[in-house]
Amino acid sequence: MKTHTPESVLKQYFGYDSFRPNQKKAIDTILDGKDVFTLMPTGGGKSLCYQIPALLLPGLTVVVSPLIALMKDQVDALRANGISADYLNSSMSMAEQWKVTEKLKKGETKILYLAPERFKGRDSFFNSTYAKQQEISLFAVDEAHCVSHWGHDFRPDYLQLSMLKKKYPKVPVIALTASADTTTRADIVDKLKLQNPETLVSSFNRSNIRYEIRQANDDFDELIEFLNAYKKESGIIYTLKRSSTEDLASRLKEEGFNALPYHAGLAPDKRARTQELFLKDEVQIIVATIAFGMGIDKSNVRFVVHMNMPKNIESYYQETGRAGRDGLASTALLFLNHGDMSTLRYFATIDGNEAQTEIMLKKLEQMLEFCEIKTCRRQYLMNYFGEAHPDTCGNCDVCLDEYDAFDYTIEAQKVISAVARLRQQYGAEIITLLLKGSKSKKVQFWMQDLPTYGAGQDKPADFWKDLINELTAQGYLRRDGNPHQVYKLTDKCRDLIKGDKTFTVLKARSDRKETGTSDDESMDRKLFELLRTERKRIADSNGVAPFIVLSDSTLHELATYYPQDLESLQHISGFGVQKIQSYGQAMIDVIGSYCREHHIKPKPIPKNKGRSPRPKSGSSKKGSGVNSSNNVSLQMYRAGKSIEAIANERGIKPSTVESHLAVYVERGMLNLEDMVDKSKIPAIREAIKENETGLLRDIRDSLGSQYGYGEIRFVMAEMKGN
Ligand code: ADP
Ligand code: ZN
Repeated sequence: MKTHTPESVLKQYFGYDSFRPNQKKAIDTILDGKDVFTLMPTGGGKSLCYQIPALLLPGLTVVVSPLIALMKDQVDALRANGISADYLNSSMSMAEQWKVTEKLKKGETKILYLAPERFKGRDSFFNSTYAKQQEISLFAVDEAHCVSHWGHDFRPDYLQLSMLKKKYPKVPVIALTASADTTTRADIVDKLKLQNPETLVSSFNRSNIRYEIRQANDDFDELIEFLNAYKKESGIIYTLKRSSTEDLASRLKEEGFNALPYHAGLAPDKRARTQELFLKDEVQIIVATIAFGMGIDKSNVRFVVHMNMPKNIESYYQETGRAGRDGLASTALLFLNHGDMSTLRYFATIDGNEAQTEIMLKKLEQMLEFCEIKTCRRQYLMNYFGEAHPDTCGNCDVCLDEYDAFDYTIEAQKVISAVARLRQQYGAEIITLLLKGSKSKKVQFWMQDLPTYGAGQDKPADFWKDLINELTAQGYLRRDGNPHQVYKLTDKCRDLIKGDKTFTVLKARSDRKETGTSDDESMDRKLFELLRTERKRIADSNGVAPFIVLSDSTLHELATYYPQDLESLQHISGFGVQKIQSYGQAMIDVIGSYCREHHIKPKPIPKNKGRSPRPKSGSSKKGSGVNSSNNVSLQMYRAGKSIEAIANERGIKPSTVESHLAVYVERGMLNLEDMVDKSKIPAIREAIKENETGLLRDIRDSLGSQYGYGEIRFVMAEMKGN
């Protein structure tokens, strides 16, 4: 008999060619009988870490999972791959539960999902007949942060799980979570009594998600334009209030979109129904409050839109993370509306708990800062979660947009003067009215005598509001006071008033195109649509969600390579033995008749396709890497300003300025020897050549701290250019 390995099981049951980072290590450690703690972002591939050992080990694997809705999906997905899996939870009838326990007693189940409440009381797992009769090979604790009251989703029932190691000291336990904070991490290991666990932390970067933030001026029109680029694809739109979910959903329906509202005020059965329609691809768009999303692991969510700013970066990351679990390109779009801030501040205020309120308000300010930065969004997010991301990402609006730079020094001086004359005691509205010379009653008599009164009549009110935000983002103004926001000046203003500094605003070119769906150019969109229809038909007749039948990325591959026999399907990612048998012929029939009609021949399927095509780190959509943001830095550098000074003035990080300038070093437009100490260059060149990873950090480690990242970056750029 052929012996199975993790790789062969991966191929046979799941149809994948290679492991993702840390999956293999987790599997090997479990097979060695040791405990594992795994931290991976949503969509990182946690499930395989225990499902593959489950298939290689002799006995039963027990998975603890808090979400009943998810349990069914997981079991459906395993069964579709030909794996014997079951679940037990309180939503099942006695008869259903009895059927499952009978199977368990006979040893027919390989993987069992249990809700945490199954570990307490007289009828607990520990007292069950099947647990006594059958060998238990592995425990997997999913969403393990639920065991910690430091986590964002503490569940007391999880505390029972400390008994696992007591009652089964020899059985390995794997704890899995996507919750990043370090206090929670340590607490999980402690509460579950993991023995010297192998700790595996994966990168939290979701490189297939494109982050995009826009000012909410014509947000509805822009939303429609955005959605038009995502015809038929699934997505979630978050709004702040229940009433706005209903309003927006009905406006979208009027525009011909298939949308439904979802919020906690709807009857439970209505909510369950809406969720199911979404999972089954019968409704395209859910317009929801944050009540929607827990327990949705639909892999083909192509976009998440925030009509309002979320309350903190953790929420933003969790909500946007629901897009693109299948690894295909997806978009997270946020409409920034400063008018939301007062509501958000109100939400963040916890009566009678000043300390907690302060933390929440701080987090809110950070969220706003993230929306207003003009540097790579992903870098900011990764920094926030304590992970280094040395290069700009090439897949966020800041990296992708081309900018035009505007000199608004005089306008900025007017705002600063207005703030000063208003004794730093007023908000954006009064500042704007003052500049406009408004006759509104809100402008008091003494204000009308100020020299700045009417100094900004030549520009519309929105211009001044945007400029105030821009000045804040670049650190010239500071918001203060709660709940009323007033603007204060910072020390930076002095140079601007004296005329020692210029104030530059970068504006994205308005010829932005909606790029829409996850298409890579090589995919045949028409065939994809036909395959999607066929998948839906199969899903309906099996009573499961379409993404459980085959994932979007599998359909993409089919619509790229046109395989026309069952044999070739083995080389398509996501087609394991069972799925080829169950759905292979149906897919091939669709492809075959399409190809005959259009005279298309199958294309060779490359080995090691890897995951879906993604933009390369640091690359720009337009390919050149020269955009106006880089250009602004170049001009300032040429004007004799130091990197620090440029960074300071533009409100960006020195490393970002370095990466702007590196583009010109690479093109030979800046001279390396002007930028790096000449005597250091040979050693840096050598270190770059010697280094295997090509990571800036590693190169710098090998050189020592007397070498700066910037110096290394410039030498690298020069070497690339040659
Ligand atoms: P998580 O639980 O971490 O959110 P999942 O286990 O649901 O993530 O995996 C996310 C998606 O990635 C699933 O569609 C899964 O089939 C796919 N996946 C996991 N591991 C691999 C792999 N090694 N190769 C290709 N796809 C994978
Ligand atoms: Zn970026």
